[in-house]
Amino acid sequence: MGDRARVVILGGGFAGLRALHRLQALGERVELVLVDARATSLARPALPEVAVAGKLVDHARFPLAPLLAHHGVRFVNESAERIDADQRQILLTGGETLAYDHLLIALGAVKDYDAIPGFREHGYSVCDDVEAPRLYDALKRFRGGPIVIGSARSVWGSRVDAPRLAAPCEGPVAELMFMIDHELRRRGLREQATLRVFSPGEVFFEDVGPKVHADVEPLVHSHGIEVQTGKVLARVDAGGVVFSDGTSWESALSIVLPPYSGNPLIKRSERLGDEQGFVPTDKTMRHLDLDRVYAAGDCAALAMPKLGHIAVMQADVAAAAIRHDLTGQGEIPPHRPEVFCIANRGGIQATLILSDTLFGGSTDLTLDGPLAHLMKWSFDSYYFHTVGRLPPDLLSDGMESFLRRLQH
Ligand SMILES: Cc1cc2nc3c(=O)[nH]c(=O)nc-3n(C[C@H](O)[C@H](O)[C@H](O)COP(=O)(O)OP(=O)(O)OC[C@H]3O[C@@H](n4cnc5c(N)ncnc54)[C@H](O)[C@@H]3O)c2cc1C
Repeated sequence: MGDRARVVILGGGFAGLRALHRLQALGERVELVLVDARATSLARPALPEVAVAGKLVDHARFPLAPLLAHHGVRFVNESAERIDADQRQILLTGGETLAYDHLLIALGAVKDYDAIPGFREHGYSVCDDVEAPRLYDALKRFRGGPIVIGSARSVWGSRVDAPRLAAPCEGPVAELMFMIDHELRRRGLREQATLRVFSPGEVFFEDVGPKVHADVEPLVHSHGIEVQTGKVLARVDAGGVVFSDGTSWESALSIVLPPYSGNPLIKRSERLGDEQGFVPTDKTMRHLDLDRVYAAGDCAALAMPKLGHIAVMQADVAAAAIRHDLTGQGEIPPHRPEVFCIANRGGIQATLILSDTLFGGSTDLTLDGPLAHLMKWSFDSYYFHTVGRLPPDLLSDGMESFLRRLQH
């Protein structure tokens, strides 16, 4: 490997690309290698627009090879099969091995459609670039009837102290229900349809506090959307969805966010994962048991809820910890999770949510209207056109402190 330390990043999503951009500051001291099974990086927050508003799926993803070549980063466009932490190497599908000095695991979580009986035959979803266009086609054909939207229940391991949310990311459910409502009104079909939403949690949006609930609930009612909580999906049938309490809802279109599960690579690799295949780390994102192994984003057991915003924050922490290992320099920022997301509501409406009550904080606010929509559009466009960069820290920090002031 030569004199330079080799840092391998597994996964080129929000977490992997953010860490890569941070670690590039180390210049010639490190050899950066990024491994991804996909040729493109997928920006999932843009997928509800693909599914409902007809945004081109190619505007929700960008090719990794040119970006990485431009930055002088080696890109291995292959699936990783297994990590051998004793030998400090990764086994690739092609049979080759890739050695590392430091490893950052940023592999995301598996959206386990196959865990829901009947989903493949009768269900729709939005979580990737196959499902979102499929849902768009189904919505185009839709002429009326009941629509059901909800999250299946996920199960978590026990090695780290993180909230165990029944649904780790309900933002897309909220986006879909509001955007579909808007789209059906636009097409003059709203009277011919009902919109019912289920959540496996005790409350819809378990990850925010009372102020956000108080702001969002009237919006849901005013759009004629019914929400029921404590509903655990058992299966999807041709005629609707069936819950584990024996009840069923009729549906012409069943849209489901599947359970999250750990990456098979983590499950296959010895000592890597917790009981569910998520990577247990301390708050500097170092693996609890393995030397020079880090994790960030949806694959990390500490990432809860599973949000791009948290993936990026953890990537900053992990990159600083790796930098500190390599140079003995630099501060490692605190692991400070918070819920930050913007849900489009159709047209130029959106609702921004910023809340840290789940983690003991007192911030719990929404910003509703075209300004929130403009912020989401600007963020998505910036990420897409800069191929995986986020707005400068000064801008993001300034925006958050502006929002916090709004609360007081
Ligand atoms: C529909 C939807 C909308 C969302 N909207 C928002 C939002 O508005 N705001 C927000 O903050 N969050 C949102 N999220 C959550 C957000 O998208 C995720 O938290 C974020 O993508 C996690 O980033 P990541 O880098 O950890 O994982 P990912 O983005 O999933 O990236 C993981 C990468 O690892 C690669 N990989 C996986 N396995 C292997 C392997 N064996 N070998 C090689 N490569 C592999 C994959 O190809 C992928 O590129 C949304 C999620 C969904 C599903």
